[in-house]
Amino acid sequence: MPIDATLPYDDQNIFAKILRDEIPSKRVYENDYAVAFHDIAPVAPIHILVIPRGSYVSWDDFTARGSDTEIAGFIRAIGHVAREHGLVMPGYRLLANVGGHGGQEVPHLHVHLFGGKPLGPMLAG
Ligand code: AMP
Repeated sequence: MPIDATLPYDDQNIFAKILRDEIPSKRVYENDYAVAFHDIAPVAPIHILVIPRGSYVSWDDFTARGSDTEIAGFIRAIGHVAREHGLVMPGYRLLANVGGHGGQEVPHLHVHLFGGKPLGPMLAG
C-alpha cells in the first residue's frame, strides 16, 4: 500500500530500524549523511537503496527541510556508490518514488540505484 508522503515521519518504519541497526541489511557504503544497502527484493542485477541518515519521509520532505550539507552529502553518496560498483561506463538508473502515484511503500526517503543490464523503457506502461 503506497504511503501518504504528507504524513509526519514515523520513526518505526523499516529503514529507520535499519539505520539504528535494529534489523539487518547488506550495507555497501555509508557516510555522515547517507547509508546504502542492497534492496531485499532486487529487480535488476544491481539494485541498491540509498537513504539519508536524517528523518525525512520522502524526496519532497528532504528537499523542503534538508540542509544544503545533508542534501550534498546524500547526493554525493549516490554518485559514489554508482562509481564504486562500476556503473558509470555501462550506465545506470536512479528512481525515487514519492507518495501514492509514485508507489512509495516505505516512508523514509530512498533512492533506488539500478544497474547491471540494459534497463529498458523508463516506465512499465
Ligand atoms: P518503494 O516502493 O520505492 O518505497 O521501495 C521500497 C523498497 O524497499 C522495495 O524495493 C523493497 O524491496 C525494499 N525493502 C523493503 N524492506 C527492505 C529491507 N528490510 N531491506 C532492504 N530493502 C527493503
